[in-house]
Order: sequence, then structure tokens, then C-alpha cells
Amino acid sequence: MGLLLIPLLISSMSTFLFDCAVFGPVTSRRFGSSLGVNLLSTTSKVCNFDCIYCECGSSSTRGVGPKFAALNHVVDSLEQTLSGFALQCRSVDYITFAGNGEPTLHPHFEQIVDKVIYLKEKLMPGAKVAVLSNATTLHKSSVVRALQRVDKRVLKLDAGNEDTFQCIDRPLGGTTLSKVCHTLKNVFNGDLSIQSMFLRGTVNGHRIDNTKESEVKAWIERLIEIGPSEVMLYSLDRDPPMDTLEKVPGEELKAIARQLHHHGLLSTVST
Ligand code: SF4
Repeated sequence: MGLLLIPLLISSMSTFLFDCAVFGPVTSRRFGSSLGVNLLSTTSKVCNFDCIYCECGSSSTRGVGPKFAALNHVVDSLEQTLSGFALQCRSVDYITFAGNGEPTLHPHFEQIVDKVIYLKEKLMPGAKVAVLSNATTLHKSSVVRALQRVDKRVLKLDAGNEDTFQCIDRPLGGTTLSKVCHTLKNVFNGDLSIQSMFLRGTVNGHRIDNTKESEVKAWIERLIEIGPSEVMLYSLDRDPPMDTLEKVPGEELKAIARQLHHHGLLSTVST
């Protein structure tokens, strides 16, 4: 277990940041045994969303040091970790780009993906590579090319109504739900997974609840247009950064999943 890298807990009880470029493996609700790759700063979140539920805390707080991990540092860290695992005959199910923000913002994202795939093939060919993304950088051809090469593209869609999207995901820089859905529909021809966070609570005096019938109906309509291969439903796991947010019980998530099934959409529920 000498290679188990534990995320450093910083800043507050309910938010945390990964303190290295390669972390885990962690047992993920959605990816089994997963080795994480963090391309972002280790002292603050780097993201163009500011989701109310983000476990990394606020997007407006900048820490010290560079915003992005150096390409060589990521590659060397992963090679060292995978080599150590190979020596111990250990393996993981996934190598997952996640970490302290939006991985596709990294200026060398495509090159890093290529090198991670190369290392994976060389040292742990049974593992798959996944990327978690908020889908806001799909206008960049380099990002699309990189996402087309990985085994699993998991893209965020937390709402079907514009107002709810703005309240939950709080995009910086004018991104709209319509723009995100347009690219989700047109870029991968349905060869993508969608992940959706369900929650409710009060934020700045506004009641937010994306489990309401009208909200779920609008979200399903968006999904029918996008046509993903899979929809991953989940709710809060650790304590959220705001204690006014509530976790949605698994039975409610399963009821939403049944509605997806009725429309021919495959889904998984993490409880
Ligand atoms: S997209 Fe992910 S990293 Fe960015 S604010 Fe939302 S939850 Fe946090």
C-alpha cells in the first residue's frame, strides 16, 4: 500500500483539494477502483463553473502557485505509480481525469491524454481511461479529439431549465444551458455518458430543487435530444460546502431512473 496517495484535506471541514497530480486509487461509486489524475492546481480549484455542490469549494478563491500541473510532472507521476502497481501485480479499473476543477482547461490536455493512454497500454492495459468534464470546452477541436480517444467521456448535465442550470452550476463567462446541450447533442453522436447531480436546498435565499416534476421533465427532454449511451444519477456524497443543501434519497433517484427507462435511456444510480 506504499503507493496509496491520499488527498490532502485543506481549507474547511466540507471542502477538499487533491494535493498531487496522481491520487488514489479510490473506490468510486461510478468507476470501481479508480486512479485519479489531477491536471489542476493543488492549492485552489480551477474551473469555469462554480457549482453550488462542488467539493473543491468556491471557484473565486485563488491559491498560490501555478493553475495547471506541468505536463512532464503528470506523466512522470503516473508512470511511477503504474510501474509500482505493475511490480506489485496490482491493477485498477479506471484511470480517471478528475481532480481540482475542469481538466479540459489544461492548455496541454490533448498531449497529456495521449501520454496517459500510451502509459496505460504499456503498464496497465486492462484499465480504461475516463474523463469527467463540464462540457464547456467542446468548441476546441483539440479537446474533442482527446475525448474521442478515451474509453469514457462523462459530461455534466444537472438541469433541463436555463434558470436552474445557472443557479446550480453557476457558469463563469456567460455559458448557457442551450449552448452546452447543443454541443452535447452534436459532437459525439450519442457516444457519451451524462452525469447529473440531484439536490435541493436554499442558496442565497433561492429555493433550488432539480427533482421537481417540471425540472425532471425538462431535463429528460434535453437528454432525449442528446441521446447519451448512459446517464449517471447521483446526489451529494460527502458534506456539501453549503449546509443548506440536502442529499436526495436513493429511492427518489431510482424513481427518476425509471422515467429515463420509460424513454429508452439507460441509467445507473449511485446511492
Ligand atoms: S464543474 Fe466540477 S469542478 Fe467545476 S465547479 Fe462544478 S463540480 Fe466543481
